[in-house]
Amino acid sequence: MSLLEELTGDLPAGRIVTDPDVLTRYLHDEAEWAPYEAPLAVVRPRTAADVQTVVRRCVAHRTPVIARGAGTGLSGGANAIAGSVMLSFEQMNAIARIDELERLAVVQPGVVNDDLRSACAEHGLWYPPDPASAPWSTIGGNVATNAGGLCCVKYGVTRDYVLGMQIVTGTGELVRLGRSTAKGVAGYDLAGLMVGSEGTLGIITEITVRLRPRRPAERTVAGYFDSIVSAGRAVEAVIGSGVIPSALELIDRHCLRAVDDWKKLGLSVDADVVLLGRVDTVGAAGESEAETMRACFEKCGATWSAVSTDETESEALFQARRLAYPALERLGPLLTEDICVPIGAVPDMLGRIEEIAAHHDILIANIAHAGDGNLHPLLITPPGDTAARTRAQSAFTDIIDAALRFGGTVTGEHGVGLLKMNGLAKELDPVVMSMHHAVKQSLDPYGILNPGKVIPTP
Ligand SMILES: Cc1cc2nc3c(=O)[nH]c(=O)nc-3n(C[C@H](O)[C@H](O)[C@H](O)COP(=O)(O)OP(=O)(O)OC[C@H]3O[C@@H](n4cnc5c(N)ncnc54)[C@H](O)[C@@H]3O)c2cc1C
Repeated sequence: MSLLEELTGDLPAGRIVTDPDVLTRYLHDEAEWAPYEAPLAVVRPRTAADVQTVVRRCVAHRTPVIARGAGTGLSGGANAIAGSVMLSFEQMNAIARIDELERLAVVQPGVVNDDLRSACAEHGLWYPPDPASAPWSTIGGNVATNAGGLCCVKYGVTRDYVLGMQIVTGTGELVRLGRSTAKGVAGYDLAGLMVGSEGTLGIITEITVRLRPRRPAERTVAGYFDSIVSAGRAVEAVIGSGVIPSALELIDRHCLRAVDDWKKLGLSVDADVVLLGRVDTVGAAGESEAETMRACFEKCGATWSAVSTDETESEALFQARRLAYPALERLGPLLTEDICVPIGAVPDMLGRIEEIAAHHDILIANIAHAGDGNLHPLLITPPGDTAARTRAQSAFTDIIDAALRFGGTVTGEHGVGLLKMNGLAKELDPVVMSMHHAVKQSLDPYGILNPGKVIPTP
């Protein structure tokens, strides 16, 4: 029997999609120019048992299985492989439990990040990881990519909130990893190993996340700069001052203009670069931290800076930061970088990105989780301009190489997927790369879990 016939016999009706028109929605994520091929089928599981059935059948047929959340990834991690089965988690989107005493939530992988955050808020609790894709991306995808976000500079990334999970292994076993207690060191941290593994080591069917009490209100500090390097120096100064911002984001005039043209938010585009800082320390200490941040902006050459008392205005600026990517995407194919460098290297790295843009004659816009040193140069090319595309790809490589020279990493939060496989090979010691292969071989002995992503298939 064919794999499709077996799955049709095993799974309840309505789980399997083979209609080519519908399949097109599942072919790739948001990464520009990452290759993809036609899958055999998409399965939309409703239970962990459905997932287990699919993996077991795929083991028997040695067929690749690719997990997919919302497809907002920016590395090609969720892209289809020829003849593969895509497991799309859109119908496993239940929040099973929010526990106020233990401060944890148990969720299915298809829960959308913002939905979890809203549900937690009803209990006076907070799930901090807040990627700018929070209105669409799923907790399963966030865990599989170890997603970061705006408040991570103070509160950490997804990894810091994952306590445990249930997974289907590469041999089709359904197991629990990690814990649901505040502490625990029983054995190797296999739940931690799954975080950021991009669907290559196991399929996540349930996640237990740590929550925090509702956060205090934030104060916003905005600074306008006429040079991106000065803005980078201000970032270094803020972090060096000892203030721990609850956000420190950078957005340049290309992004502000694109968002304003699209959403008509009435944003000022007088500045070349805007730094948006936030502090959430309560009372006089918070006031003092906001003032310290503003002073750092001024010291580093801000042409204008203010502690905002206008919630609507500051929310509009943060909204612009979140919308920058889809706004720029409207201008043409957009290749998104995701390097992360030490804070002390942020000004020089930003300067280097400007030089690379000029050298390759490519428009590079910039957004950044600047307080983490996590920079997202956005390489924009005119539609259909193949020469520009080639230049953009050279610029992409140059940016990666520069980040490594500055002591950084090739991906801060988007993951390796397909786009950063060459970069990963440059970053990792060959011995460490062979450790990666050993882990993959051990947990996915038949090589069916998202093969050819993150590390090359041997
Ligand atoms: C506008 C925009 C803004 C963004 N902002 C940020 C940001 O601020 N921070 C950030 O970190 N990222 C950001 N991203 C990138 C993206 O949103 C994140 O990588 C996100 O975590 C992907 O979630 P997803 O549900 O879309 O996963 P997908 O793109 O569907 O999948 C991502 C990876 O996870 C794997 N996967 C998905 N579900 C499972 C599962 N159940 N089990 C095992 N593996 C699984 C997939 O195979 C793939 O490798 C942004 C993207 C966009 C388009």
